[in-house]
Amino acid sequence: MSKKLDIRQEILKCLCRSGQMTRTDFVRQTGIRPATVFEVVDELKQDGIISELERKGKKTGRVSPSITFNMDYLWLLGIDFQFKKTIGVITDLNGKVIASSEAPGLSRKGLEDCLHEIKTVVTALKKQVGVDWEIVAGVGFSDPGIVDIEQGISLKAVNLHGWENFNSGAWLREMTGLRSSLILPETIVGTYMEYYSRFPSPPESLFHMEMGTGIGGGFVKNGTLFIGGNCRGMEIGHIVIMPEGPLCQCGNRGCLEAIAGEAGLKRRVAELINNGVNTGLKTENFSITKFCELAGRDKAARMLAYDVSSKISNALATVVTLLNPSMIVLSGELAGLGSILTDTIKRELPLRCMPGAADKLAIEISTLDEYATARGAALMLREKILLDQAD
Ligand SMILES: [Zn+2]
Repeated sequence: MSKKLDIRQEILKCLCRSGQMTRTDFVRQTGIRPATVFEVVDELKQDGIISELERKGKKTGRVSPSITFNMDYLWLLGIDFQFKKTIGVITDLNGKVIASSEAPGLSRKGLEDCLHEIKTVVTALKKQVGVDWEIVAGVGFSDPGIVDIEQGISLKAVNLHGWENFNSGAWLREMTGLRSSLILPETIVGTYMEYYSRFPSPPESLFHMEMGTGIGGGFVKNGTLFIGGNCRGMEIGHIVIMPEGPLCQCGNRGCLEAIAGEAGLKRRVAELINNGVNTGLKTENFSITKFCELAGRDKAARMLAYDVSSKISNALATVVTLLNPSMIVLSGELAGLGSILTDTIKRELPLRCMPGAADKLAIEISTLDEYATARGAALMLREKILLDQAD
């Protein structure tokens, strides 16, 4: 690769991260000399990838024009295939949502039902954008389970019958007629979005933990996402915290997910009811969201919430001991416990980690909206398309 292509790639990467920059910002961030940066920026403008908007300062005269991606250069399709529903978005190159659609995961008996649901979302999006579908360049897909990112294969998702060893990349390209595809585990996409939503001042490192039907994690440091050797890293849900505890879907006993995941919580609720505890909690139509609501006003639910938060602190102590992150972000339905969860973690982590490891550690609840993961899948594909093009 020639030096100029390296610089082109570097500038595109900066713009992907910051969203909006000036020529001066590029020079400052890359440390490359102005003349070279300006030449590459001019080239990117000519290629139609970026736009530069003249801005006039009221008092100071001309200020540096701001550079963004050209919103009509290409669009992206992002799909968030979750355990309970599918969300799809079309975004422009700046990540702005142009169209969105959603389908509930009502009766997924096998692979065909999953594919039908995804197809329904894509068909609705196609209809919304009409002839502009032509500029959609590819599909980014967030998978609820383990994937082979390089081959674009969905390997396995517990709780999702038939979603196993499926060539989702090839199927998506064929079904949509789009050139590119990128299949990513949901935890990686979620972590990417948590990190980049904190620009322009992201933390140095961030551990993201998602707690819903299952429990997953992701880690990013200085802008680089950690991806395990065979895409099975950061599986915080499968850290064993009670060796003789309940059986987990992974085959082990006492994993965090078997205790604080949806099935684990439901099991605890059944125990409470069977022991005659007075509570508004019910196993019938159980949902984590309802559990979080009740934790505010039902004693048994609150006790269970504190106990589960303590188990989560246990697993996070391992994370802090190994990675020493500067920020932990909690997302997913169980993050609805709010201060019960964060206060317990803040109190217990320092007691379970090396002295000083949890100092200055920020613990936050995610504030991203329901389209964030679908957008994230589209934006991660954006980087792949733009940077491959620069090769
Ligand atoms: Zn497990």
